[in-house]
Amino acid sequence: MPAEATHVSGKRSPKSYEGFDAVFVGGGVIGLAGAWRAAQGGARVCVLERAEPPAGATKVAAGMLAPVGELTFGERELLEMTLASGALWDDFAAAVEAAAGMAIGYERRGALHVALDRDEAGELRRRHDLQRELGLGAEWLTPRRCRELEPGLAPTFAGGVLAPSEGSVDPRLLARALAAALREAGGELRTGTEVVDGLWDGERLVGVRTAPAGPDRATSAEPPRVEVRADAVVLCNGAWSGQTPWLPEEARPPVRPVKGEVIELRPREGAPPPAGRIIATERVYLVPRPDGRLIVGATQEERGFDTVVTAGGVHELLREAYRTLPDVAEMELAGTIAGLRPGTPDNLPIIGRGAVDGLVLATGHFRNGVLLTPLTAEAIAATLAGGEAPASAAVADPMRASLVAQRATKDDDPNPFPFVAQRATKGKGSLEVTR
Ligand SMILES: Cc1cc2nc3c(=O)[nH]c(=O)nc-3n(C[C@H](O)[C@H](O)[C@H](O)COP(=O)(O)OP(=O)(O)OC[C@H]3O[C@@H](n4cnc5c(N)ncnc54)[C@H](O)[C@@H]3O)c2cc1C
Repeated sequence: MPAEATHVSGKRSPKSYEGFDAVFVGGGVIGLAGAWRAAQGGARVCVLERAEPPAGATKVAAGMLAPVGELTFGERELLEMTLASGALWDDFAAAVEAAAGMAIGYERRGALHVALDRDEAGELRRRHDLQRELGLGAEWLTPRRCRELEPGLAPTFAGGVLAPSEGSVDPRLLARALAAALREAGGELRTGTEVVDGLWDGERLVGVRTAPAGPDRATSAEPPRVEVRADAVVLCNGAWSGQTPWLPEEARPPVRPVKGEVIELRPREGAPPPAGRIIATERVYLVPRPDGRLIVGATQEERGFDTVVTAGGVHELLREAYRTLPDVAEMELAGTIAGLRPGTPDNLPIIGRGAVDGLVLATGHFRNGVLLTPLTAEAIAATLAGGEAPASAAVADPMRASLVAQRATKDDDPNPFPFVAQRATKGKGSLEVTR
């Protein structure tokens, strides 16, 4: 075992620390899936995670796989990525489940987007026009037709759009399954291990230095440090990837945390679930899980690294859920949680070789990280193998003009991405409610 209090798992000997092909900083869905795919291709990989998967945004996400409903004006490039990744999900889910020997709650029940009043109907119509223009599978339905599909909907509302191919997955089960699949493929996962520094050979990044995370670190005066060497360091630690002082400034991805709160409702004994598919409005979405739970999300706020669940956030979510599906009032309030989406200046992820040799970036997945997991994993595996990443991931190039320009202008600005703080939100009210 290493000197630090880490938990090492996988088929490789715990002593064989040196000489990985790639070390992954962060074991959220992106790091675990990328490492798994790379290991399947024969790479020797190690994932370093300071907590225990599921953690980070992965633990909080609702797990909607909804490129059509998430369509936002002006985000055409993101749509192409989300559609491409959405198309990979059937095979990806089957492969993860087979490798891990466990279910991940993957379903394609479709999504129904409803407009609760005339203003919302106007907005939904505009979005639906765009969906049709782009040839996306979405159908406008009258309130009566909506209620035939979902009898639990509120008695009055203005109309809806059905997107039949949208789906969902349970991100917590997905993370556990990916961890198992990674081990099965011969990869290592070290939990309770925080990356605190880089290892350099001149200008080239050749690995990372770790320290124990959590209580072990707090009780240790001089926490032991362990070096993990690798040909490539994949930075995939989500909202924290912009906080990497051990990288030169030009190599740090411009990622910021965007807070989101969700609540979990459970049906009473014997009561039917209040909805059969994903139900979404301008202000809230409700995602059914196969076991009957309902995930209600999500607020969206720019509050730095704050993950406190607020009374106001829970109130907004419950109020909007009740306006949409009144039967939620009878459900058990099973839990509340807040997490941090990794936001970027242009709302696109950042995937590919970084600004220093040895660095690969896979971060900034913002509202769509679960949906984008299969495509990102393929892109990471291809990049590490020296091959071509899928064409649909090209827009996520770390060297794209919008990111480079951003870095060049930010200098000492304490909020380096001010325009995004406004742009990234949708929805209404003092507290934005969205994915
Ligand atoms: C409220 C909410 C709802 C969402 N809903 C959806 C949804 O419906 N559909 C969808 O597609 N996406 C959704 N998302 C977005 C999605 O959760 C993220 O885009 C995705 O989880 C990003 O994955 P990741 O692996 O990059 O980051 P994370 O899941 O945040 O994982 C990063 C990991 O890195 C670890 N870490 C950080 N620093 C270090 C370090 N120095 N050393 C070691 N480990 C470190 C953290 O502990 C964490 O486990 C939602 C997010 C939120 C917050």
